[in-house]
Amino acid sequence: MQKGILIVLSGFSGAGKGTLVKKLLQTYDNYALSISMTTRQPRTGERDGREYFFTDKEHFEEKIRENGFIEYANYCGNYYGTPRAYVEEQLAAARDVILEIEIQGALKIKEKFPESLLLFVTPPSAAELERRLVGRGTEAPEIIRKRLARASEESEGMEAYDYIVVNDNLDVCVEELHSLVEAARRAPVRREAFIKEIREELKGFAKGAEQ
Ligand code: 5GP
Repeated sequence: MQKGILIVLSGFSGAGKGTLVKKLLQTYDNYALSISMTTRQPRTGERDGREYFFTDKEHFEEKIRENGFIEYANYCGNYYGTPRAYVEEQLAAARDVILEIEIQGALKIKEKFPESLLLFVTPPSAAELERRLVGRGTEAPEIIRKRLARASEESEGMEAYDYIVVNDNLDVCVEELHSLVEAARRAPVRREAFIKEIREELKGFAKGAEQ
């Protein structure tokens, strides 16, 4: 059985990743979403075990020592990490696992899992990003400034991704993301077993023809 694809979905805070992922999961059944662990405070409406596993610094650091994360990073003063067990289980069960993580984590994933697929979601413009962050109404102005500064830094790393996807229209963007995953499934790095098998079979035929 072909293993699932490890998909990294990054993008500026406010790019609409959360909504996109929700729609992807509702529309298609090949995806599994990894729930990260974080030391940041829950926002209003967030529930432990749904958006994140919320924890404290001590517990997070203990899990780092136990090799419990496939990657982790510090973002705006808080830890965020991808728990290892769920990702490994789901990939083995041929599900495509989505990691909604920031760029430091994305780069670590690419290094450890070169066959992963790195997608970067962005609004059409910086002005639109600011508008969405302010409109969300969940963050204080100081935090919004921090996140815009961080977005500026993150834009320096966009070339590290396999594809850049502009989120202007939700439905269009979901379709684009899904077709990139479907295309990736057909890339030779992810079809090694198939290539090996057909090569062996063809060798058999070639031998037959020699005799
Ligand atoms: P937020 O606080 O807005 O939920 O997330 C802040 C940033 O952390 C986002 O860019 C989000 O994608 C990223 N993030 C969430 N979970 C993880 C994780 O497990 N690892 C890494 N490296 N980044 C994460």
